[in-house]
Amino acid sequence: MAGIYIHIPFCKKACHYCNFHFSTTLQLKNELISSLVSEIELRKTYFSSEIIETMYFGGGTPSILDVSDLEKIIHAVHKNFKVADKIELTLEANPDDLQKEKINAFSKIGVNRLSIGIQSFFDEDLLFMNRTHNGSEAVSCIHNALESGIDNLSVDLIFGYPLLSNKKWAHNVDTVLEMNIPHLSCYAMTVEPHTAFSSFIQNKKMAPMDADQSAKQYEYLMNRLNENGYEHYEISNYAKPGKRAQHNSSYWKGISYLGIGPSAHSYNGSCRQWNIANNANYIQGIQSKNPLIELEVLTDEQIINESIMIGLRTIEGYNYSSIINQFTNEQKAAFEHTKNQYLSQELIKENNHIITLTQQGKLLADHIAADFFLV
Ligand code: SF4
Repeated sequence: MAGIYIHIPFCKKACHYCNFHFSTTLQLKNELISSLVSEIELRKTYFSSEIIETMYFGGGTPSILDVSDLEKIIHAVHKNFKVADKIELTLEANPDDLQKEKINAFSKIGVNRLSIGIQSFFDEDLLFMNRTHNGSEAVSCIHNALESGIDNLSVDLIFGYPLLSNKKWAHNVDTVLEMNIPHLSCYAMTVEPHTAFSSFIQNKKMAPMDADQSAKQYEYLMNRLNENGYEHYEISNYAKPGKRAQHNSSYWKGISYLGIGPSAHSYNGSCRQWNIANNANYIQGIQSKNPLIELEVLTDEQIINESIMIGLRTIEGYNYSSIINQFTNEQKAAFEHTKNQYLSQELIKENNHIITLTQQGKLLADHIAADFFLV
């Protein structure tokens, strides 16, 4: 089993919080699409015998593309890789691109899952984030998708920013629950370097994010979704039974994936690669058959630390039974010390050598994982 991620590096506008790789001009669109197709061909031997079971268009904003562009890319994947008969094919989409005709056209080329960047149902919040859609488009795109037959939907929401009162957050969560959306990805707003928000805060034009507000809203979310039958299967992801994202779950299970497009990452169990995050240079590298890829071979320690981080973020937890015997006495003692400390604070639970985070622990997931890391 393997997955392919395709990065579409174009957006209509720059959201004020976003530090992903994208361009707000479509000038290089045609060259970029040809280069994605060429990269798929160039990297067709990345997997030895694995069969592609998931394909994921992320970005950027994949829904900005013409359907014929997406079709060319999907066709190239089928031509160059062994693809299972039935795959999960996800497209990240923004609400203002999701008219019924376009969703029908996505469905015809094989897209069977939409991950929609709703973020909020309030106009003022969407303006504050510099999103391209408004609150009414946020609602209508979900109805459009359901009526057009793509009911495997995921919705992104953001919490923990100054404009979002607890009442508004409850409304956002309840709106998604009322529409019975099978999958949600919810993130605390973070201030990344080189974003508009980071400069607004530096220039005192905006209040910084409030960690207490964020924690309260996260707790509200966990409780509401739990009451409504969602599995909190990864720290930011919630699904109705049977509706987990297969592609993203593969990342968390350490399954190999190939990333196509500028800034896309690939992983084969021991080595991570990433393409240059620059559209013009990416195109030039592919056209000259010399893709600009950086590579990192992971050390044993990095592999263990990564499995601790991923394990603690998922519902399955971190199973340390096979690893503990590889530790030095000093590492074992440090691991036991950290474990006992967090067990006594009821931030983790342990069952049969599997450590999972409690609800309180989930508020501190990255911090707890880092304390377990081998150094
Ligand atoms: S649409 Fe998505 S990728 Fe594009 S700027 Fe906004 S958050 Fe970033």
